[in-house]
Amino acid sequence: MTFRHLERKYIELQEAVRNVPGGVGCANDPTLFFPEDLVGSYHDRKDVITQAKAICAECPVKLRCFDYALSAHMVGIWGGTTAEERQKLRG
Ligand code: SF4
Repeated sequence: MTFRHLERKYIELQEAVRNVPGGVGCANDPTLFFPEDLVGSYHDRKDVITQAKAICAECPVKLRCFDYALSAHMVGIWGGTTAEERQKLRG
């Protein structure tokens, strides 16, 4: 995938996010979506991931978000998946 292709995906995602009435759920509490940054027990981290995934499950741009994060090798939770889960999907 070229940088230009990735950039286009990002622009399309941002446009889709802007068109969500009321905004996307992750904008309300972005810290939930970067469990890598959390200091705490395994169970605390797991709980945060579960909360973030529940928000993504309701998001109308979930598939586009997932697709971008998969292609761009992003950290954090995007489209209802963790970075580790996307890494496994890439193989
Ligand atoms: S799928 Fe999740 S991370 Fe992506 S825009 Fe929606 S709420 Fe945010």
